[in-house]
Amino acid sequence: MDALIELTAEQEQFRAELCELLCQDAVRDEVARSRRLPYGQETGLLDVHRRLGERGLLAVNWPVEYGGRGGTIVEKAILTEELILHGVPDTVHTLGIDIVGLAVFLYGTPEQRARLLPGLARGDTTASVLFSEPGIGSDLASLTTRAEPDGDGWRLYGRKRYSMKTHQSDFALCAARTSAGPVAYHGITLFLVPLRSVGVHIDPLWNLSEERFDDVTLDGIRVTRADVLGEVDDGWQVVNRVLPLERTGIDSAAKADRLLDALLRQAAATGRLTEPAYAQRLLDLDARVRAARLLAWRCVLHLRDGRPDEVDSATAKWYASEVAKELAGLALEVTGLDGVLDARDAAAVADGVFDAALREAPGLTLAAGTSEIMLYFVGTSGLGLPS
Ligand SMILES: Cc1cc2nc3c(=O)[nH]c(=O)nc-3n(C[C@H](O)[C@H](O)[C@H](O)COP(=O)(O)OP(=O)(O)OC[C@H]3O[C@@H](n4cnc5c(N)ncnc54)[C@H](O)[C@@H]3O)c2cc1C
Repeated sequence: MDALIELTAEQEQFRAELCELLCQDAVRDEVARSRRLPYGQETGLLDVHRRLGERGLLAVNWPVEYGGRGGTIVEKAILTEELILHGVPDTVHTLGIDIVGLAVFLYGTPEQRARLLPGLARGDTTASVLFSEPGIGSDLASLTTRAEPDGDGWRLYGRKRYSMKTHQSDFALCAARTSAGPVAYHGITLFLVPLRSVGVHIDPLWNLSEERFDDVTLDGIRVTRADVLGEVDDGWQVVNRVLPLERTGIDSAAKADRLLDALLRQAAATGRLTEPAYAQRLLDLDARVRAARLLAWRCVLHLRDGRPDEVDSATAKWYASEVAKELAGLALEVTGLDGVLDARDAAAVADGVFDAALREAPGLTLAAGTSEIMLYFVGTSGLGLPS
């Protein structure tokens, strides 16, 4: 498939360098150990991130002065693929580097960049995203968390739900309302909130997947102008620029690729590969996983060329996440109920990879923009249907 995605010799070398690091025994042991932790505990594989950070491999598309490699979004996409293909959850990287770090890089003051980016790039600090609220996800403009003026700063009050890794992070990018007006999008401000502070309470919100959600109460934490990212009241612009850059479908396509590989092995080992009922569907999904990866890479290449395309990005995100979800469902049919034994169980099939995929699958079509919202963009902006 890589023949269709032309990479330079340097980019292939970069992929090889990543593989070499992610195949080291210490990394593989850490990945395996993390999958066997009691339910509800997670390491976030921060050690693995630090190893990458030490070698400048974490924030590859940032300038060298901020701890990056001066690469492009192509190297970033290669990194995401390799993390996932080697079983390293990409959540810490996506949140801290791809969303918060990128937002600081694009909209931060020189002081904010110098203060925050090198630590993120080294993997010494991590960051999370506090956007969603109880009942408010897709329609972010309705958010109710408020920033009340307090001297030369503000105090934040509100509840943020469904964030990931906040309990392990040092700071978060938080959206709050600084003013109310006739237009909902106006009056939202983004704050860089230190999380280990008085006025921040974090509770776990358990869910199906391996990684917990956090339920965060902001109870008067104080922030100042130095913590504002971008302009006061104009955070919507930042949200709209940064979130679509996360939507390339690269992550879901890589997850589907990894799962398909494991599923084909399992089907071959159990004789299912030649059973017509499964063979045709596996063949079909094999073609769709390839298509998902190509759509994702098309999107990455458009971004590389400075031609971001909302419709391409929505198409790739929707398609790749739906294919990954369908594969997880088929995996259960191929493996039978043994497929839902997790990695902690000695009898787990394929080290619990099918169980983990099945539990992660529903979130893929929700996080970073739901499938329905992606199809809305495709329908209205892409096909010109009335909104
Ligand atoms: C794995 C995962 C990780 C996440 N991580 C974070 C995080 O780190 N930080 C954070 O802030 N949030 C996070 N979220 C929350 C995520 O952003 C929201 O779940 C998402 O935006 C959807 O919002 P919601 O859950 O409130 O659903 P809603 O927006 O209420 O949607 C419910 C259903 O209605 C549909 N719907 C909504 N509006 C429309 C419309 N206009 N047209 C058609 N259909 C519509 C949706 O598609 C969906 O099926 C995460 C979610 C998941 C699953």
